[in-house]
Amino acid sequence: MGLLTIGSPLTWEETEKYSDHVRKHGVIQFINLYRQLKNRQNDCLKWGDEIEYMIVKFDHANKTAKLCLKAEKLLPILQEKENKNQGDLKALWRPEYGAYMIEGTPGTPYGSLSSCFNTVEANMKARREEVEELLESDECLLCLTSFPRLGCKNFTFPPVEHDPRTSVLRSLFFPDLAVYGGHPRFKTLSRNVAQRRKKKIIINAPIYRDKNTPDPFVEDFSKLYDDGESARAALPNHVYMDCMGFGMGCSCLQVTFQACNINEARILYDQLAPVCSIALALSAASPVHRGYLIDKDCRWDIISGAVDDRTDEELALKCLKSRYDSIDSYLSPAGEKFNDFELMYDENVYKQLREAGIDHLLSQHIAHLFIRDPILLFSEKIHQNDEEDTDHFENIQSTNWQTMRFKPPPPNSSIGWRVEFRTMEVQITEFENAAYVVFIVLLTRVILTFQLNLLIPITKNNENLAKAQNRDAVLYEKFWFRKDLTTGESPPEATAYMAECGCSDECEYALMTINEIINGKENEFPGLVPLIQKFLTSMDVDVDTQCSIQQYLKLIQLRAKGELLTAARWIRNFISKHPSYNFDSAVGEEINYDLLCSINQITRGTGCPELLGHPTSRTRDHIPSAVTKAEKSYSGLKIDKNT
Ligand code: GLU
Ligand code: MG
Repeated sequence: MGLLTIGSPLTWEETEKYSDHVRKHGVIQFINLYRQLKNRQNDCLKWGDEIEYMIVKFDHANKTAKLCLKAEKLLPILQEKENKNQGDLKALWRPEYGAYMIEGTPGTPYGSLSSCFNTVEANMKARREEVEELLESDECLLCLTSFPRLGCKNFTFPPVEHDPRTSVLRSLFFPDLAVYGGHPRFKTLSRNVAQRRKKKIIINAPIYRDKNTPDPFVEDFSKLYDDGESARAALPNHVYMDCMGFGMGCSCLQVTFQACNINEARILYDQLAPVCSIALALSAASPVHRGYLIDKDCRWDIISGAVDDRTDEELALKCLKSRYDSIDSYLSPAGEKFNDFELMYDENVYKQLREAGIDHLLSQHIAHLFIRDPILLFSEKIHQNDEEDTDHFENIQSTNWQTMRFKPPPPNSSIGWRVEFRTMEVQITEFENAAYVVFIVLLTRVILTFQLNLLIPITKNNENLAKAQNRDAVLYEKFWFRKDLTTGESPPEATAYMAECGCSDECEYALMTINEIINGKENEFPGLVPLIQKFLTSMDVDVDTQCSIQQYLKLIQLRAKGELLTAARWIRNFISKHPSYNFDSAVGEEINYDLLCSINQITRGTGCPELLGHPTSRTRDHIPSAVTKAEKSYSGLKIDKNT
């Protein structure tokens, strides 16, 4: 979730006093970084995924499943090898917001050999094994975007004492001890966000109205020691949530790419932005929050509310969005004309960046990030050497959680300019997670190789992001998407293919279903997967990798068609068929238990045709040397042209 600085966090009052100081030095640090690294060239494609996991404890005798608060105990063991610098790590492990969460990435990033695609799923499996070796027999590691009964009475193991009148979070539902305690970042962030906005977090997710759902649906919080603040904040017919844990305590699947230089990073940032909503709708997996079915399938708006530190005055400003939201401006020259959102930015910062020779687009992006206050500051980090340190820049950067993130290289490292794709919900199985990741990585290769343009106005991206979260958006919503994706620079085979598919550029973009976007629309749009297939024909991919890639793309295609269910739809169906479901939107302990038992079995490979089809990927844990040798003779996924 961001920068893990070691030290003593300041109170909000103290942090606030240093707000201008952090911004001032953060900008100088960025300028210094930019000067050193703007001409960095020829970094090769590297990429990696991040999965956030939850640890679940089953009590089979009493039919309960709880979130197990043992991340703090597991992490030192999981990080032992890394800390001792013992090479060849399968995975890297990091804490996440919840005391029941951990985040895992591959031990080393993937590179530009296409055979890497075939090791992603196996690596994800190996990651799981690493953790599960340390678990008790009644515990397991699950990929759950939202834990259905998060915030319900006794949702943790061990159960913890909780009194909102004395706790730091002041939540009626989420005890302080469910926040990861091994690092002060998480609890301090939660406290400071609430203190900055001068009241508790307010999240109201519309309840899914079933035939016995009370109308209006209104909850009584007085027994939970509500002092009236929650009763005033909760909307009728909504599931009310009151702290950062409800959003940041959800899990997602992210992908980070290293670009060959800053320009390619800008292009990738822009071009992937319109894909964020599409991938969110396709990966929808979180229809239940705080024990109730909601009328949305995704977590995004919930996290957006969960870290929203805006004061009432700021909330009244139309163009100031939450820190967790869609991107507000494009960064590449092609994006400029689509920057139609009235961007709020710090004019002094903008001027300072321009005077330092930074172009308009990048300056306005940074000046936009810098309208935020630092929300967390460590006493040891106040005074820094702006020539060498970048903590103040990172401080602001890492608490702007947008759909895409543009990441400058860390100082003095071998890492290049990167972008992060941040919207996807985590899928139940490794097969699915690998499929979504491989799909996005392949898409970047297609975009760069065919020099495509997927840009639509920023305001249309915003509309898409809202729609993507609607129930079954994958089937029923239409999204703004660009029709003719080729550009003046596209190679002839791409332009010809696009023409063959009937694309014309009379109107640059149109409303399309996810099925049309992914699979194509006759005489109008080729579809992203067919474009990937076209690209793959020009690549030399070994048989096993090709087979796995085809399985992954098929999953994406069938989900887009509605022939396979999203996790969100599968969870809804499971609940509505459960004998103890009363059609009142409530997901009780027993349903939760049975649901998680089933998810656990699916994770372990029992199969679930309506969700997965019948995948037979040929993932393997290493690339055979013959394949590496053969592949090295051509450029693999590398894009030769320096963009
Ligand atoms: N858990 C957050 C989510 O579900 C992401 C936090 C992070 O940026 O790592 O989107
Ligand atoms: Mg994370």
